[in-house]
Amino acid sequence: MDTLKATVIGGGLAGCEAALQLACRGFKVDLYEMRKGVGKTPAHKTSNLAELVCSNSFKGVQLTSAHGLLKNELKMLGSFLLQAAEKAKVAAGESLAVDRELFSKEIENAVAASGKITLYPEECTEINSETPTLIAAGPLCSQALAEKIKELTGGEFLRFFDAVAPVIESDSIDYSQAFAMNRHEKGESADFLNCPIDKETYLEFVKRLQEADCVEEKPFEKRELFEGCLPIEEMARRGEDTLRFGPMRPVGLGKHYAVIQLRAENAQKTLYNMVGFQTRLKWNTQKEIFRLVPALKNAEFARLGCMHRNTFIESPKFLDSTLKLNISDKRPEVKNIWFAGQITGAEGYTEAIATGWYAAWNMANSLKDKAPEPLPQGTCIRTLMEAITAPNENFQPMNFNFGLLPRPVDLRKSEKKNFLIEQAKKNLSIFLQCCQRN
Ligand SMILES: Cc1cc2nc3c(=O)[nH]c(=O)nc-3n(C[C@H](O)[C@H](O)[C@H](O)COP(=O)(O)OP(=O)(O)OC[C@H]3O[C@@H](n4cnc5c(N)ncnc54)[C@H](O)[C@@H]3O)c2cc1C
Repeated sequence: MDTLKATVIGGGLAGCEAALQLACRGFKVDLYEMRKGVGKTPAHKTSNLAELVCSNSFKGVQLTSAHGLLKNELKMLGSFLLQAAEKAKVAAGESLAVDRELFSKEIENAVAASGKITLYPEECTEINSETPTLIAAGPLCSQALAEKIKELTGGEFLRFFDAVAPVIESDSIDYSQAFAMNRHEKGESADFLNCPIDKETYLEFVKRLQEADCVEEKPFEKRELFEGCLPIEEMARRGEDTLRFGPMRPVGLGKHYAVIQLRAENAQKTLYNMVGFQTRLKWNTQKEIFRLVPALKNAEFARLGCMHRNTFIESPKFLDSTLKLNISDKRPEVKNIWFAGQITGAEGYTEAIATGWYAAWNMANSLKDKAPEPLPQGTCIRTLMEAITAPNENFQPMNFNFGLLPRPVDLRKSEKKNFLIEQAKKNLSIFLQCCQRN
């Protein structure tokens, strides 16, 4: 067999995990990291591989936390970066936090020790479709590479900032205070869940939004925000009625003073998105204010709203379930390109590592002419990949959370977490036993 070769663009969390996974599956890897040369991003501060741009925490380790369960899968699947994090860990209670310098050092050592990865300290400005390539250039992908990705995806499907509205776990909604209906009763099925608010609550809601603390934007984000969609606190500051004539308008929904619409975030309707509620409010403030809405008084948030600089492609339109670029209808000559990391819309450090592992696993199988080996249903990684690649007209980046995992419809709330944890663990164990046997 010819030597297996691959290019990985981006020596961040996803790119390093992918390069190491490909190397241990026999590939010679060219890994490009521009920060090793003259390149910079507006957020990274060093030239270290897999630099953590902000917090030094990979979040919870307990299986009862979503990130703990996700990490358990990465451990079972032999993630190199998780091993590096374990070696570099610092005391952080029930979270996995690391000494960031030591973490990067562990990864640099693993890359050097692989004997199969050549590190190019330069910006990659071309996508060479002759060599299988994995693009993991992150949320701060260089301008030149972003232009190339734009060319590949036809321009409009690469975004430069996200405006994420909060997502709520469906079984925490008080359905006695909400009603299912589309505006003006259009459409065959009632797709929206509506949460009405009376005048007194609305005025309090707006006042709290006007006075609320926001997350400060980074200097490099100032220009990009507020271009297309205003955060709700900004709308509230423009006047008492702005929200009532904007995302909270009751028109076509019956006689209510104001209404918040919720739209299902996934096919199983385990999660609901607050329509038009992109926000920069601090996370605790969001919870306090949104729980003023009667239907949301006990709301549990699978994710909270945010708006920040974030380069990502519309994965549901461009990636297949293996994270491979699928544009065969328009550009049949472009064949072997995979994406991983935040640029796929999987948000968060651990998620970036998971996509790096997953894209490399699929890439290796595909280039060795093996049939794809999908991870089993009910596992965190499979579920996350489905969340970013399943058809979705309103795609926004997503972090991993329990609300995404499939479960029987009639499962009681108190049994939910145990069921989801056992399902994920058991299904992955069976899968790995089968892999070992084959
Ligand atoms: C400012 C900011 C703060 C964040 N804070 C957190 C947090 O605290 N916790 C959390 O869980 N998530 C956080 N995230 C989200 C996300 O998890 C991280 O950005 C994560 O590092 C993404 O991993 P990645 O591998 O996709 O990208 P990165 O880790 O950013 O890696 C991409 C790499 O590609 C390189 N690169 C880019 N273009 C090129 C090119 N053309 N040629 C060669 N190299 C290139 C970059 O230099 C970079 O090293 C944050 C994101 C941002 C933007």
